Amino acid sequence: MVAVGEAKEEVMQLPDQERVLGFLDCFASDPPNVVLLEGGGPEEREQCALYWSALLNCKSASPGPCLECSTCTRIFSGTFRDQYFFSGSEGPIKIEDVRGIRNVMGQKPDSDGFRVFIVSQAQELTSSAANALLKSMEEPLPNNAFVLLAPERNKLLPTLVSRSWVLTLKWSDAGFAGLEEVQAWVERLLDFWDTGKGLFEHTAKKSDVDADLVRHIIGVCQKSLLHLMIGRLEDPVSKYWNSCLDSTYFGNLDNLFKKSLQALDYQVNPPLVLDWLAIQVYQWCNLDRS
Ligand SMILES: [Zn+2]
Repeated sequence: MVAVGEAKEEVMQLPDQERVLGFLDCFASDPPNVVLLEGGGPEEREQCALYWSALLNCKSASPGPCLECSTCTRIFSGTFRDQYFFSGSEGPIKIEDVRGIRNVMGQKPDSDGFRVFIVSQAQELTSSAANALLKSMEEPLPNNAFVLLAPERNKLLPTLVSRSWVLTLKWSDAGFAGLEEVQAWVERLLDFWDTGKGLFEHTAKKSDVDADLVRHIIGVCQKSLLHLMIGRLEDPVSKYWNSCLDSTYFGNLDNLFKKSLQALDYQVNPPLVLDWLAIQVYQWCNLDRS
């Protein structure tokens, strides 16, 4: 038996993932069938998956899971009966491993919450196992939720990714010494959105702008979007967007950031991705001014 409060400690080890946890909180009232968590480290991805599982099952969620009740505790100790965990850390996840799912899915969960299937290291699914899983996802039965975890989405079958609601955990800052540089770029973006000037002369120096840097810049924008969505205007970007964009643009921004990350995954030239992102946002911010 796991001590009460241990779940809370696990989640407190996720200080950098506030943005993703916030999105999960927002989605809990109408949960997507499949959530794919990429980025971060393997343990962080697993902790976020357990957080989502707790969110779907905790009776005291308001808006996050309480992390103290017996349901939350069992979820974090891996003893919750409606939670199925496929590891993948010891080699490929085979079709036999996922085949049993169909039978289980047809039955009602033991509790009155959600049955959660977590596939950690989803990149270890063999293609036949991935296809079997896909079949289950395409014919969703009520109160079943899937969570796929992988370092990057492009390590999975595209069909699995297109079925999923993808959330990108903050990439590890280890080895990345350029946080001040990220801040400088965010200020340039703000300037550009306001005046239409002062960006391209910097992105034109292509050697200065690599994919890692652009990922971090997008990460800052995503965090600001979350702040904007929950009305916590505590950073300059969310304040600025709040001055010129209404809530109908939240979805556009979210999609834009996801597509930009995807473009980086597909090896699109990082300065181009940054220019494209900047121009899109500029247009939205200035629609009413023209
Ligand atoms: Zn709870």
